[in-house]
Amino acid sequence: MHNKYVGRFAPSPSGQLHFGSLVTAVASYLDAKSQSGKWLLRMEDIDEPRCIAGIDKDILVTLEAHGLHWDDTVIYQSQQHARYQAVLDKLMNDELAYYCACTRKQIKAMGGIYNGQCRDKAISSSRSSPKVDSAIRLKLDAQLAPFYDVIMGEVKPQPLLSPSDVHDNINDASNGERISTEDVVLKRRDGLFSYNLVVILDDVFQQVTHVIRGCDLIDVTPLQRAVYVALGYTAPEYGHIPVAAVAPGRKLSKQNRAAPVNNKTPIDNIVRVMRFLGFSFPDTSAFEDVSTVLTEAISAWDRKKVAKTPEIIVPQHESTYYNEPL
Ligand code: GLU
Repeated sequence: MHNKYVGRFAPSPSGQLHFGSLVTAVASYLDAKSQSGKWLLRMEDIDEPRCIAGIDKDILVTLEAHGLHWDDTVIYQSQQHARYQAVLDKLMNDELAYYCACTRKQIKAMGGIYNGQCRDKAISSSRSSPKVDSAIRLKLDAQLAPFYDVIMGEVKPQPLLSPSDVHDNINDASNGERISTEDVVLKRRDGLFSYNLVVILDDVFQQVTHVIRGCDLIDVTPLQRAVYVALGYTAPEYGHIPVAAVAPGRKLSKQNRAAPVNNKTPIDNIVRVMRFLGFSFPDTSAFEDVSTVLTEAISAWDRKKVAKTPEIIVPQHESTYYNEPL
């Protein structure tokens, strides 16, 4: 019997799960199960060139080895293009989105923040004939607002100045409370749907009520919340947990050689996750199997007890986590 809570884990199948991704999987699972909620799984393979064939299956095997059984069918973003495109077509038709052919260089010349200059340019003609080599942007007039994070507490919007698609550029904070933002990219110039669009469309589609994910995404949350509103949806609750890092600002990732999770030691891995998250938790020897460790973890789970540090350095000598020293 589920209540209305719907949580999810949304890995990108660009590499096997490592300790950091297991932390997110476990935390989102525990938050859902401690409230008798559903826990859904979504493969974020929208950036197909970066995904590796077969890694999705590997991720499923790892989750199962840790007793993290998902509810309902796994969604693959690569199979959802028609649904995303239908939303884009409607936004274009309603003149809420527009083509933009500005290059990174041009945006840099604008001071790094896109000034919206294509908003009114030939919208009517571009609507009927999709432009090659153009991005699609959403008219986003809202300001980014603070929000209450169910784990971290009050979060103020931060200026995001990375040029990547995930972190669309945002103006400097005037008072640290609300920040104006640029028109967010919905479809990239290379033809890929943007992460900021599909993450929202899928959370809406899967009726997700709670997003528990790593603090590496906390700064993009005010933007995503603004996009929710602009698209006419209500944003879910967000809770961000500490990310595991090898050094300040360097989260565990494929690039810094984080070792894949060892599926032969699931009890030990879950105990480590609980301690990493700030819980005092019994030793591995206290548990007979994965199901008993998860039952204990569900009853121990308390959002207030989760460490409030956005990033926690995992000791390098813990060879469980690394293939080789940095
Ligand atoms: N796919 C993203 C990642 O693996 C997570 C996105 C999200 O949880 O909203 O970092």
